[in-house]
Amino acid sequence: MNQRPEPAEGVLYVVGTPIGNLGDLSPRAKSILAKVSAVACEDTRRSGRLLNQLGRQGPFFSFHQHNTQSQIPKILQLLREGKSLALISDAGLPGISDPGETLVASARMEGHDVICIPGPCAATTALVSSGIPSSRFCFEGFLPTKNSERRRRLGVLAKEERTTIIYEAPHRLLKLLEELIEFCGEERPLQVSRELTKKYEHHIGPNIAAALEHFTTNKPIGECTLVLGGHTPTIPQEESDEDLKSQLELLIKKGVSSTEAAKIIAEKSRKSKRYLYDLIHRKA
Ligand code: SAM
Repeated sequence: MNQRPEPAEGVLYVVGTPIGNLGDLSPRAKSILAKVSAVACEDTRRSGRLLNQLGRQGPFFSFHQHNTQSQIPKILQLLREGKSLALISDAGLPGISDPGETLVASARMEGHDVICIPGPCAATTALVSSGIPSSRFCFEGFLPTKNSERRRRLGVLAKEERTTIIYEAPHRLLKLLEELIEFCGEERPLQVSRELTKKYEHHIGPNIAAALEHFTTNKPIGECTLVLGGHTPTIPQEESDEDLKSQLELLIKKGVSSTEAAKIIAEKSRKSKRYLYDLIHRKA
């Protein structure tokens, strides 16, 4: 396979780094991180160790949620000068519940090339090991912390038919499991994946009630990702003519006219007013 020489000038590389197991850093990622002109990292101390291990001599600087606006113009200037840059986050794929999204959008707006060097991501790692349907899924990331917005999102998630992936900090896990029971019920399939790719990797399921029971007796520790099964809508049973007729008769007994009774029942059934009106007068 003929591949383009890397790193190329003026390109922003979005590089996936391990979510726990250093063995998951790909040879391509290693090579890019060692060779680019500069590396933008979420936490320079944490990523510095990784970069040192790779024998990187060149510069690296911080790019995190609190300095995004001031750093983006500097990074764009470096790209304009033809420098090759890598963006890494503390773990996983930058841009997935990490700073990166805005930088990538700004680089693209200016017409720079952005290339992803794929790597581990907690969301997909948890999903494919859950046994919960993975052919159609959506990613929620962290739920809002503000109560009204959080409950609104939970309401939407409760009706979501696709599998949903949620990130949560360990100290908020019990609260989230209680909320999920309230909105989705105890039986909804759920797997909580703890410490993915690490020594104490552990998967807890198969439903919300089981996960809550587990974490009530075992204090949640370590990073966790939740894979929530989708909502299965119940198909409303069509009411029989007999049922409809007795509802109509009950209304008529209360003094409601036949026309009005047909109208009321038509609104809550799938039958037309005409059909229901005829039903009132139909002999058993
Ligand atoms: N960009 C990262 C990715 O691609 O997975 C996610 C970053 S986000 C700031 C951190 C969250 O990801 C954690 O709170 C946790 O929900 C999830 N996470 C990261 N590493 C994990 C691991 N090893 N096991 C389980 N969940 C993990």
